[in-house]
Formats: sequence, C-alpha cells, structure tokens
Amino acid sequence: MKSFLNIDAHSHFSMHNIPFGVFRRGDKPPAIGTRIGEYVVDLGALEAAGVLKSRHFAGESLNRFMATGRGTWREARGAIQRVLSEDSPLRDDTKIRDAAVFPVGDVRMLLPCHIGDYTDFYSSRDHATNVGIMFRGKENALMPNWLHLPVGYHGRSSSIVVSGTDLRRPRGQTKTDDATAPAFGPSRMVDFELETGFFIGPGNELGQPIPISRASEHIFGMVLVNDWSARDIQKWEYVPLGPFLAKNFGTSISPWIVTMDALEPFRIDPPSQDPQPLDYLLPAGAAYDISLEVSIQSADMANPHVICRSNVRNLYWTMQQQLAHHTCNGCNVRPGDLLASGTISGQREDSFGSMLELAWNRTKPITLPNGQQRVSIQDGDRVTMSGCCEDKSGEYRVGFGEVTGRILPVL
Ligand code: CA
Repeated sequence: MKSFLNIDAHSHFSMHNIPFGVFRRGDKPPAIGTRIGEYVVDLGALEAAGVLKSRHFAGESLNRFMATGRGTWREARGAIQRVLSEDSPLRDDTKIRDAAVFPVGDVRMLLPCHIGDYTDFYSSRDHATNVGIMFRGKENALMPNWLHLPVGYHGRSSSIVVSGTDLRRPRGQTKTDDATAPAFGPSRMVDFELETGFFIGPGNELGQPIPISRASEHIFGMVLVNDWSARDIQKWEYVPLGPFLAKNFGTSISPWIVTMDALEPFRIDPPSQDPQPLDYLLPAGAAYDISLEVSIQSADMANPHVICRSNVRNLYWTMQQQLAHHTCNGCNVRPGDLLASGTISGQREDSFGSMLELAWNRTKPITLPNGQQRVSIQDGDRVTMSGCCEDKSGEYRVGFGEVTGRILPVL
C-alpha cells in the first residue's frame, strides 16, 4: 500500500494507520482530518470536493462519526486509503490538494471530540502491585477485589487537554506523615501516569448493559493518555472514596485516534487470568502489542531523556472487559466518552509507568543526563509519551505520535 505522498518508512502515520483527529489551520474553523506521514488531510474538504463520497466529516468534532459504528468506520478508512494511494486521481489534482492537504507544521491539533465522560481504570497488575507494596506492604499488595474486576473511578472530562498543552502545578491540601495538621499549598509530588485510552463508539442506552461479546463494536479507537497526578494530595484525600483533586487538574491525550482496524495486525492473545473472571467478563477480548516510551526534558536539557519503556501488553484487564464491567449495572456510555487503562507498568524496573514507581516512592532518585535528580516532576519539566507498533517484517509502522506537556509553576 503506497501513497502518492512521500512517507518516511519510520513514520507512525503510514498508509496502514489512517487515524482520525481535529485540527485548526490559522483562524479557519476546526476541521476533521487524518494524518499521513508529515501531512494532515482535511477530510471535510475532500467530501466537499466530491473526492470522498461520504458525509461524515463536515463538522468540528468526531462524535457523530463515532456514533455510526464499526462498519462505517471501516468503510471510511478504506475509502481514505484509496484516495491517498499512488494511483489516486488526487495525485495530480493540485487544486483539491492545495485545499485539503497541509504540512503538519501548518496546523494546530485540537481535542478530537466532545468528551462527555472520562473513566480511569487501574488495570496493570505490576502497577497495582508496586503501589500496593509501597503503601500497604508486600503481603497486602493487591486488594482482594483486584483480580476479580477491573477497578476504576470516574474522572473529570473538563480538564482533559490535547498534547502540547502546558499545565499549572496544582495547589491542594496535603499532610505529611510527621505533621500534626494538614497544610494548603503547591503540590510537591507531581507525577505522570503512562496510559492508553479508548473512545466509545455507538454506546448503550441507560439500563442496557453491553455484553462482552459485543464490546468491540463500541470501541472506536485508542490514544495515549498522561494522567497527571499529585501524589501528596492523593495520599491525604483518597480515603475512603478514591482519587479526587489529585487527578483532575489535567489529563493529556495524544491528538490522533488510532482505530482498532489499524491496530488489528498487532492484536495478541489476552493475558491468562487466574482466578478465572466471572462469566460476564468472558471471553476476555483482545490485548495489543504496542510499545510505549516516556521521556523527560527539564528546561535546561537540550534533548529528551527516555526514563521508561513499557508495552500495552502489560495490561491484565482488556478493554472489552473494562467496557463490559463499566456497563454491567446499566450505566450508559456515549459516543466520545474516554475510558483510560490505568498506569501501564511492566515487570522490569525501567518499564514502570510513573515516577512514583521509577523512583520507588522517593527512595531511588532518577539521575538525568545533566546531573539533576528527580523523584517527581519539577516546574518546567516536559514529559513526552510515545506509542508505536511495528509490522513484523519491519515494513511499516502504526503509531500514535506523542502526547507531550510541561508543568508550569503555580500562578
Ligand atoms: Ca491513572
């Protein structure tokens, strides 16, 4: 599958990808597009010119397209691949190309859709075990429910931002172990969490659960998620109802939604689950082989420094199980809702997906190339996560690009 556009062999955005996103060029209204190599293609403009025969992409957000369902997503992806292929009539139509194909540097990415609700799971066994060991000791590392259901909490969608958005260090209430009273001030333990998330397609009516056998029909595609966290606020506030202000000061996502069809070649068997989950969580669904990387770059560093290499295959609970569990009580999910995986840590120490684990609760500082040490994110630090799948033959890649953002000083 070749395009008339020049695509680097290492590009995350090969002809096999065709992700969906929303961008803005200058002061023009937001537009729905796809990314191919170093170009962004305005899909609404291709529809307006009659090059694409569909009518999905005229709006400013992907919610309507997400609601149409898997058959339509698949058809649209195929049609876009044909339009961008090397024997496409678009190749020599400079007028339409000028109106619809732009270098990535000429556009600004926006959130891909209106995100009505955001849920964050806790589905990496290694992450849950590491955090459990740090806070409860080795004997009680995993809570008794963890191996029976995908633990999660309701997050906040208003503070989800697109990659490139910087966030302010949050203020909040904290209490150190040796203090007799809590204090209010800037968090001193800002952290990142390496996650992926998936967007809901058609969704369900209130009161009508999505059975696990049909969960895949409701999964539109995936993005990278950095679920920024303030560990000192979290530690004091989370009992007994769970995360609150430690988690909702900002959640960053990568701008391009990679569809499940594009990820299909990288599907692998789900992890073995022991004890066997209850029937409504079986068959487990699919796992994916997606390499993940986190880098950090402080204000005075010339280049980013990789501090974590993990993989989506490290998740214990599948997306299908998360969705079936989320709706098993009749809770409805809607097109554009975001369900995130939880921090994705592996077994190796360099695959831990948060600073909390990498620096093992402040006891093992990370040394950066400039000699500085880190146990948490400092003002001016940039955290960048990337995710990519490589075809076995090494012929092409399907990737997410990156999600990046800096922590700015408190106002
Ligand atoms: Ca999280």
